[in-house]
Amino acid sequence: MWDESSEAMVEKFMIGLKRRNPGEPEFHQAVEEVAHTVMPFVLNHEKYKNAGILERMTEPDRIVIFRVCWEDDQGNIRANRGYRVQFNNSIGPYKGGLRFHPSVTLSVLKFLGFEQTFKNSLTTLPMGGGKGGADFNPKGKSDREVMRFCQSFMTQLFRHIGPNIDVPAGDIGVGGREVSYMFGQYKRLTGEFTGALTGKGISFGGSLIRTEATGYGNVYFTNEMFKHKGDSLEGKTCVVSGSGNVAQYTIEKINHLGGTVVTASDSSGFIHDPSGIKDEKLEFLKDLKNNKRGRISEYADKYGCTFQSGQRPWAVPCQAAFPCATQNELFGEDAQTLVNNGCIAVGEGANMPSNIDAINHFVKSKVMFGPSKAANAGGVAVSGLEMTQNSMRLSWDREELDVRLQNIMKSIHKQCVTYGDENGHVNYVKGANIAGFVKVADAMLAYGVV
Ligand code: NDP
Repeated sequence: MWDESSEAMVEKFMIGLKRRNPGEPEFHQAVEEVAHTVMPFVLNHEKYKNAGILERMTEPDRIVIFRVCWEDDQGNIRANRGYRVQFNNSIGPYKGGLRFHPSVTLSVLKFLGFEQTFKNSLTTLPMGGGKGGADFNPKGKSDREVMRFCQSFMTQLFRHIGPNIDVPAGDIGVGGREVSYMFGQYKRLTGEFTGALTGKGISFGGSLIRTEATGYGNVYFTNEMFKHKGDSLEGKTCVVSGSGNVAQYTIEKINHLGGTVVTASDSSGFIHDPSGIKDEKLEFLKDLKNNKRGRISEYADKYGCTFQSGQRPWAVPCQAAFPCATQNELFGEDAQTLVNNGCIAVGEGANMPSNIDAINHFVKSKVMFGPSKAANAGGVAVSGLEMTQNSMRLSWDREELDVRLQNIMKSIHKQCVTYGDENGHVNYVKGANIAGFVKVADAMLAYGVV
């Protein structure tokens, strides 16, 4: 699938990148995926060719690493590591979520910040790319412990962020509760009420639709891919992984559009409910995960369907798959199984859920494959709209925001078609990478040697 003449350049480029960033496999993977499609484009365009643009775009502007100390309910002193990767602010203030999960490393946050730069560029809004978080595990912690951790984290981070500098939001392990604790602490420390974080509560500067935006946007994008082929999600059997924020609203929007979702998962396994996760069952799932913070197996116990411990759902036959849990949860053999079972579309709700083998298999098989930087950009897009509303000191209603979200997802789809069309078939990986690249690269070139 790759242009042979540029392969040697990609290989050379990746050797240099790995030498400069040792022990960072997720970051290498994210860059390699982009380099394969962007390198031929760079080599074909004089203005990018000798500008060292890929070298510059893969080096973050700066990274802040700090100690986060807090006291647990037993009075023990605990220490975690906090990070903020300010990747690229060529087209706007740094923007990207905070992740609290034990698997957080610098490599994971650099991959996420790099991806975010391209994704934010695709949204058409003026936002640069950043990402941050900590190796803190909120699971099993009391509300007070989470609050103390968030306050301590923000006591370090506040001096590096601001509405025109860097605007963090949520991600895995960081939802409305955590954003609120952090925003409260930011406000105490600075004495200012400004839109320095997004994903806030509605009564204090948050935006309607933000909670739903990533999942809804993922489904709008996937439906656009179907529509481009004269089809739709209506009547399709869909497989979803994850059961957190992105998975829940992916399921909800598929239901609205007439599809049937037969699976959901968490880190312990997946449930298979052939009759569909809808209505009261979806409300049960939301309550289980958002309020009770329970395990997905409890859904199977309640509704008498199967739970497969330690498994992912990719062997369940479907027409469309939506990986919405985490990075590297769908491999080459899973992609083969999905295609063999009749899967014709993939909408990546999570960031980089498919590894490079899986992506290659989907692209080679001409599956409509919506890569994360395009398909899940709806979340950050509505975060961008939250920034706009904060600056204007007003709030738009749900309908207005939903229309704006749908238009943004249509525009992202259109950009992918513009740059990814290959004789009538759209290669969305190529389209998203090049469209995201062009805007950022052009801004960097305009600034001179930066
Ligand atoms: P949540 O914390 O709400 O949910 C995460 C889900 O993924 C849970 O079901 C969790 O299971 C599962 N999960 C997490 N880590 C693993 C793992 N290592 N193995 C298996 N399952 C795992 O996060 P979100 O829904 O917000 O985020 C999901 C993905 O979407 C991430 O890749 C995130 O970067 C991406 N994303 C999120 C956006 C947003 O607006 N929230 C925006 C754009 C992308 P368990 O409960 O067992 O931990």
